[in-house]
Amino acid sequence: MPIATVNPASGETLKTYDALSAAEVEQRIATADAAFAAYRNTTFGDRAVLLGRAADLLEEDQQDVARVMTTEMGKPLAQARAEVAKCVKAMRWYAGRAESLLADEHPSAADVADSGADRVRVVYRPLGVVLAVMPWNFPLWQVVRFAAPALMAGNVGLLKHASNVPQTALYLEDLFRRASFPEGCFQTLLIGSGAVEDVLRDPRVAAATLTGSEPAGRSVASIAGDEVKKTVLELGGSDPFVVMPSADLEQAAQTAVTARVQNNGQSCIAAKRFIVHTDVYDEFTRLFTDRMRALRVGDPMDEDTDVGPLSSERGRADLEELVDDAVGRGAAVLCGGQRPEGLGERGWYYAPTVLADVTDAMRIHHEEAFGPVASLYRVPDLDAAVRLANDTPFGLSSNVWTRDDGDVARFVRDLQAGGVYVNGMTASHPALPFGGVKRSGYGRELSGHGIREFCNTTTVWQR
Ligand code: NAP
Repeated sequence: MPIATVNPASGETLKTYDALSAAEVEQRIATADAAFAAYRNTTFGDRAVLLGRAADLLEEDQQDVARVMTTEMGKPLAQARAEVAKCVKAMRWYAGRAESLLADEHPSAADVADSGADRVRVVYRPLGVVLAVMPWNFPLWQVVRFAAPALMAGNVGLLKHASNVPQTALYLEDLFRRASFPEGCFQTLLIGSGAVEDVLRDPRVAAATLTGSEPAGRSVASIAGDEVKKTVLELGGSDPFVVMPSADLEQAAQTAVTARVQNNGQSCIAAKRFIVHTDVYDEFTRLFTDRMRALRVGDPMDEDTDVGPLSSERGRADLEELVDDAVGRGAAVLCGGQRPEGLGERGWYYAPTVLADVTDAMRIHHEEAFGPVASLYRVPDLDAAVRLANDTPFGLSSNVWTRDDGDVARFVRDLQAGGVYVNGMTASHPALPFGGVKRSGYGRELSGHGIREFCNTTTVWQR
C-alpha cells in the first residue's frame, strides 16, 4: 500500500510520501532509545506541563487538523472537529491524573509482615520505547489514546500509522515537538506494514500496541510473542445492540442510527448487529429504517452531511461483497443496499443500509461490516438475545436497551464483551477502560488500566 493522501470523496491522490529507508528507521529507533534514557527520569509535573502544552496547541489547531483528517479518510468535518476536542480532553485528563493513577501501592501491614519484610511498596516504572501501530479510522484519537498515557508514564513512542493518513501522522510528531517534548519522545515512522517486523524485533523496542484488523493483530502479536514482548491489541468488533420490550423505542432507534453510522460506519465499537425482541421488532424496525433512509450522504466537508464516503475503494468493495453475499442468501434490504444515486462515479460512497432476515449462513453474521450497514435480527426472548449477541468471534462492547433491572443483571453477567452500555451507545471516555475479549483483542486502553499496561509493575521488598 503506498503511503499517500488520497481523498476518498474524489479518489484523487493529493500527496505521496517515500517510506523511510532502513537506515532512517535505525536512526529513529536510536533517537527514541536515547530519549528514553533521560525522559524516564522526568517528574510527573514535568510531563504534565509538556502534555498540557500539546493539548493547548492541538486545541488551537482544531479547524486545520480536522480538515486534514476529513481530507485523508473522509469523516464528516463536524465529527473530525469533535475528535480533536476529545483528544484535547484526554491529554488534559492524563496530564492531571497520571501521578495519582501510578502512585506507589502499599500492601497491608499484616501482608507486609507475612512476607517477611519491614516495608513493601509497589512502584510503576516505564517500560521504554513502545511501538504503536495504528489505524486510519480515528487517525488522531487512536494515537492520542496511546500516546497520552504512555508519555505520562515515562515511556517514549514510535508511531507506525496507517498508510493512508500520513499527514495526520506527521502532524502528531510535529505537535509533540512543538510542545517541547525532548527530541525522540514521539516520532512517526513512515513505513509500510512489511517493515513493522524489524522494528518490533529490535531489542531497543520494549513493547507494542496495535489497533486494527485481526490479521494485523495476529501478525504483530506473534512476532512480539516470539520476542517475548508485551502487547495490547484493540481489534475489530461486531457489537450487538439489543432492544427489549421495556425500552424507550424512539430513543433506542435514534441512538441506533448514530451508533451504526458514526464515522461513516467505520468504527470498531459501532453497533453492527441489532437484536430486537419480537414484541417491539416491527415498531423499532420502522423507526430505525426511516431514520437510516433519511440520512444525508455526501461531501464530508459539507456541514450538512451525515455520512461521507468510505475511506478506500477496497473498503467499499469489501462492504459490497458482504451485502451481496447476505442478499444472495436471503437477506431483505429495507433501505440502501447499493451506492447512493446522484453522487456520480467519484468517491467511495455507500448508502446507509438496513438488512433484515440475517442468518448465520451469511458472512455478515460472522464478519465485521466496516461501513454503514446494519443487520437486524428478531428474537423471542432474553435467552435468545444473549445467545445471539454472543454468537460472534468478536467481543469488543455491547449496547442494551431495557428498563428492566433483571434484564440488565442478566446482560452484565452473560454478555461476552469488554463493555455493557445500558440505554446508550458505546463511547470511549478517558476515565473508562476500553478494550475487548475474544477476537477483539486483549489489554485495556484509557483509565488507570490503560496507563499501567506499559509499566513495569515493580515490587520493592525491604528489610
Ligand atoms: P489494518 O489494515 O489492520 O491496519 C491497521 C494498522 O496496521 C495500519 O497501520 C496498517 O498499516 C497496519 N498493518 C496492517 N497489516 C499489518 C501487518 N501484517 N503487520 C503490521 N502492521 C500491519 O486495519 P484498518 O483497515 O486500517 O482498520 C480497520 C480495523 O481496525 C477494523 O477491523 C476495526 O474494527 C479495527 N479497529 C479497532 C479499534 C479498537 O479499538 N478495537 C479501533 C479502530 C479500529 P498499513 O496501513 O500500512 O497497511
